[in-house]
Amino acid sequence: MSTVKWALVTGASRGIGRAIALDLARVHGLSIIVNYASNEAAAREVADLLRASGVESHLAAFDVRDADAVTAAVAEWRTAHPEARLEVLVNNAGITRDNLLVFMKPEDWHDVVDTHLNGFFNVTTAVLQGFVRQRGGRIINVVSLSGAKGVPGQANYSAAKAGVIGATRSLAQEVAKRGITVNAVAPGFIESDMTKDLPVDQLKALVPVGRFGTPEEVASVVSFLASPGAAYITGEVIHVNGGLHS
Ligand code: NAP
Repeated sequence: MSTVKWALVTGASRGIGRAIALDLARVHGLSIIVNYASNEAAAREVADLLRASGVESHLAAFDVRDADAVTAAVAEWRTAHPEARLEVLVNNAGITRDNLLVFMKPEDWHDVVDTHLNGFFNVTTAVLQGFVRQRGGRIINVVSLSGAKGVPGQANYSAAKAGVIGATRSLAQEVAKRGITVNAVAPGFIESDMTKDLPVDQLKALVPVGRFGTPEEVASVVSFLASPGAAYITGEVIHVNGGLHS
């Protein structure tokens, strides 16, 4: 049996993660572990699209905040696909719970930090030893304009994403000699369920390009970072925000 190359994309059931899963399959022929939290119907739709495009997929329902659940899901995938080689991890799963800090409930702080920052830790450590052993791998973290610039009403989210940016830079230096690159992609306003209730007309007026981005425009940068041509890029944050911030 020949080795099949895989990517794990967290939060792949919807929005940016879904676009990343489909693009990694299309551009690199990677089979995809489709992680989601609860939306099984949407995750199944992504798995069906992947299968129709000629790659394998594996549905993995787990909460990135739950380290045991992450470890169990990775082990289950390995058992089901003993010949597989995981090549790419995309830490994409995310939520927002926006409010001014003065009104923010502790649970809204903790949920957001747990999902993005602890989620990054839980999922990355579940696959990192494998990457080190195989002396290769790509880790791509979906962060945000908010983590680079700060956005009022998002102190929880900005803090979590800034934390992931810091971890990206540290980890990149720890594993560079093992052939592993670690980078971040920082979207601005992207059309998805996360932004559907925002005042689009008001916000797009702030964007030099004059519109929200699409999930596919984020996915194409992730696919580039996963490509052989990006082997010398590590510890980097690439902004995808229509000129809002650099
Ligand atoms: P979205 O459409 O709301 O999708 C969120 C995805 O994350 C879904 O697949 C969801 O799974 C999954 N998810 C949420 N919490 C999870 C958890 N605890 N464990 C596992 N999966 C979880 O969001 P999006 O706009 O595509 O955002 C994707 C990433 O891009 C996030 O990290 C977000 O912070 C970042 N980002 C987005 C924008 C933007 O403008 N949209 C801008 C900058 C950065 P279910 O379907 O099962 O709920």
